[in-house]
Amino acid sequence: MVFVIPAVSLAVFGAAAVFILSNFELWQCPFLSIFHVYCAGCGATRAATALLHGDILLSLRQNAVIIAAIILALMWYIELVLRVFGKNVRFPLIHNAKFYYILLAVWLAYAVLRNFIPEIAPVGTRAGLGINYN
Ligand SMILES: [Zn+2]
Repeated sequence: MVFVIPAVSLAVFGAAAVFILSNFELWQCPFLSIFHVYCAGCGATRAATALLHGDILLSLRQNAVIIAAIILALMWYIELVLRVFGKNVRFPLIHNAKFYYILLAVWLAYAVLRNFIPEIAPVGTRAGLGINYN
């Protein structure tokens, strides 16, 4: 059950995400619409779309936070599963409050800098990625 429930949940969530991202035009970020500036989450939907299609580099380009969040979630999940099997393995990094402050600072710096450095800004729109995922 430790593996079945997450695997089924991931499959259902992934299938729903692919269906929604492939069939519906999602709203544009209100922050971007009003201020014409990328917010910290801009590109996250495009990053998730790219990741669901196995395009890791494009996902990183759209918004690196998605992959960072997945890596963190995996570390937490691995610890949890190992604990269920009686192994007390801990990744010290994810239990360190300083790490989260630094991560937040890096994320905020990234959010600001991507408005000034075109190479790290999200590319295109969902409709205009230049890649047909359908
Ligand atoms: Zn935004």
